[in-house]
Amino acid sequence: MDYIKKSLKLDNVCYDIRGPVLEEATRLEEEGYNIYKLNIGNTAPFGFNAPDEIIHDVMYNLKNAQGYCDSKGIFSARKAVMQYYQKKGIMDVEINDIYIGNGVSELITLAMQGLLDSGDEVLIPMPDYPLWTASVNLAGGKAVHYLCDEESNWYPDLVDIRAKINQNTKAIVIINPNNPTGANYPQEILEGIIKIAKENQLIIYSDEIYEKITYNKQKHCSIATLTDDVLVVTFSGLSKSHRIPGFRAGWMMISGKKYHAQGYIEGLNILSSMRLCSNVPSQYAIQTSLGGYQSIDELVLPGGRLKEQRDLAHKLLTDIPGISCVKPDAGLYLFPKIDTDLYNIKNDEQFILDLLIQEKVLLVQGSGFNWPKPNHFRVVFLPGEEDLKIALGRLHKFLNNYKQ
Ligand code: PLP
Repeated sequence: MDYIKKSLKLDNVCYDIRGPVLEEATRLEEEGYNIYKLNIGNTAPFGFNAPDEIIHDVMYNLKNAQGYCDSKGIFSARKAVMQYYQKKGIMDVEINDIYIGNGVSELITLAMQGLLDSGDEVLIPMPDYPLWTASVNLAGGKAVHYLCDEESNWYPDLVDIRAKINQNTKAIVIINPNNPTGANYPQEILEGIIKIAKENQLIIYSDEIYEKITYNKQKHCSIATLTDDVLVVTFSGLSKSHRIPGFRAGWMMISGKKYHAQGYIEGLNILSSMRLCSNVPSQYAIQTSLGGYQSIDELVLPGGRLKEQRDLAHKLLTDIPGISCVKPDAGLYLFPKIDTDLYNIKNDEQFILDLLIQEKVLLVQGSGFNWPKPNHFRVVFLPGEEDLKIALGRLHKFLNNYKQ
């Protein structure tokens, strides 16, 4: 009998990007199959390397990085992050407003643990990067999903956001640029969100991990640059833009109405101390990464590998009958819509599992991103052109035999 059970706190916590379908893929790999992995935004296996300067500086500082550091992070890293935001125009940011973490992931859970009591609600985009929903639920709060509208470039639906606010609502989360949709929000939408937050005294959490991976003329805008009278907590890091997800280097910056949040900030400091500090060697990559030449530009400009692969994957997908897809402006993912009247898809996890077993292609079902219908899935366009052609060609072939 299974008498050692997981805690009740985990009842509503799930992270399906690494869920049961991935377990089946691992089992198939152990049997010797080659799996085409279009499932996780992990740059390293696809030949995207970190700039040499980063590897050099981390190695150079390794000897100095043996001890614990200040629980909010080493001075040079926090100073570099502070100056990074000052240069964007946020003038009141101080070194104490910066927390370095083991990736943005650790800081998202920390920020939610520090805020929520039972019954508190947080507005989360739908679809979302599921760590947000999981972290709210783990912290004892309630994730309430607002619609990002596919018909409007996947931008947040401000009417839906307003409709979902009540006296328990504490905060609104935006993921900008978005995972999984690739939307890069224009200033009007961000201003609309600030207005709502101000009127309802909500904190804004802005996850900007893809801020440097934009493909079109419209560059990314950090919502924190547009307000000084709402509390904004901004998250970003080096995992994607500097191709070092394994180093675990991210940060959180608090700006705006800080003087009304001293209690919350004290809580964040306690939680930050409890994890002692974040991985010290990788913090030496932060100053190096934020200053100087930004090699990510080569990958996202016309002719750059990521931009080319985005275009190819988009074309291959939308050539399949019954599939449409808003072309992502940013990020590493496509979130296509599939016609469930044409294809035999009632349960999207089953569809993704059947594809994996038959064609050895691994995608993630839309419900893994808290999307309520079985009519979406996520495709990572990091694999090279040849692999994208093979994998999406197999999806096409598979769907020919998956009709109603
Ligand atoms: N936020 C979003 C939107 C992501 O897509 C990811 C990773 O895929 C993360 C946060 C986690 O990033 P990190 O590697 O900094 O923990």
